[in-house]
Amino acid sequence: MSDCIFCKIAAGEIPSNKVYEDETVLAFYDLAPQAPTHILLIPKTHISGASEITADNSAVVAHIFEVAAQIAAEKGFSDGFRVVTNNGASAGQSVPHLHFHLLAGREFGWPPG
Ligand code: AMP
Repeated sequence: MSDCIFCKIAAGEIPSNKVYEDETVLAFYDLAPQAPTHILLIPKTHISGASEITADNSAVVAHIFEVAAQIAAEKGFSDGFRVVTNNGASAGQSVPHLHFHLLAGREFGWPPG
């Protein structure tokens, strides 16, 4: 989508602090970290959010979780980490392009606020 900030990041039109990139997935540091380590993982193709995941596009979601596990292992998150996605404004989604927050480096409460 031409007006989507994460599509622009995926296309390299807006800079990001990249952690990982392949043909279908990009991971980069969040601009406003909510934990000592806060990385966003996105599909390069536009999916507006978790509610738009279907049998036709879900393969990239599985791949994103593989990448998240790889990043967690590489960065040594031995104390644990959290992967979360917000879907819709009431859940706190501010960017309407599917993304998963990979958070680590502090204690996390449950349930989330
Ligand atoms: P959400 O609120 O769940 O939609 O998450 C969107 C996230 O994107 C927030 O944590 C923002 O800090 C982050 N964000 C927005 N713009 C950028 C950007 N240009 N580079 C990195 N992170 C961003």
